[in-house]
Amino acid sequence: MSFKVYAFTCGWLTLPTGVLLEGEKGRMTVPVPSYLIEHPKGRVIFDTGLHKELQSDPAGRLGSMAKFQTVGFKQGEEIAGRLATLGVAADKIDFIINSHLHFDHCGGNQQLPNATLLIQRREWEAGHNPELIEKVYYNPKDYDHGHRVQTIDGEHDVFGDGSVVCIPTHGHTPGHQSLRVKVRGDEMVMTGDACYLRRTLDTLHLPTARYDADQMIESLKRLRKLRDAGALVITGHDPEMWQSIPQAPALLTPSLNAR
Ligand SMILES: [Zn+2]
Repeated sequence: MSFKVYAFTCGWLTLPTGVLLEGEKGRMTVPVPSYLIEHPKGRVIFDTGLHKELQSDPAGRLGSMAKFQTVGFKQGEEIAGRLATLGVAADKIDFIINSHLHFDHCGGNQQLPNATLLIQRREWEAGHNPELIEKVYYNPKDYDHGHRVQTIDGEHDVFGDGSVVCIPTHGHTPGHQSLRVKVRGDEMVMTGDACYLRRTLDTLHLPTARYDADQMIESLKRLRKLRDAGALVITGHDPEMWQSIPQAPALLTPSLNAR
């Protein structure tokens, strides 16, 4: 297996713009990204998108969160469906890396039964702390499916060669992490919700969806440094930027060489 990276859109969410940019009015429709990284030593999914049940019963699945957001999610857009279009069986994924445990980042975990879940220890603990489950909007139904769990403290080099590295970017949630991928001289960073929109890297305009504002600013500054050093920083829910990201079956990497 040669080193390849693919991007998928696993549905869309429409929500108040203020959730992404504190104080702003209106509503915004944003993509739910997911990534497949094929490394010679194993297949990784970074963020698994939405739970399939959201295709048939969004209100039931979202509960109180259905009041402020709607879901656009068609059959085939779930992670197993997206993988199938590449001929990759969902039970052949070796690692799930969740940036964090919100429903639009780990809802597809259940479809990848044989993967080991790589997650920051503080995020996993927060996701099992009854007080934080309510406060941070976690739903254990999204992530408690009996996966083998490997908890991480800080940076973690997944394959030991520097090509796929989890980097701590706490703040949006207690143990949020981003993913740095280096392939053939190119570097990209998938931020998850450490940074919703590309312009947030410059403005540091925070979302209301945050657990710790100071930590979030620190994380944004870390991501900005990586961008300034030449990495393509792919932010979590930016509809404009997402248009420029090639979707599977196109490879994500060649575009980096041409940009
Ligand atoms: Zn989130």
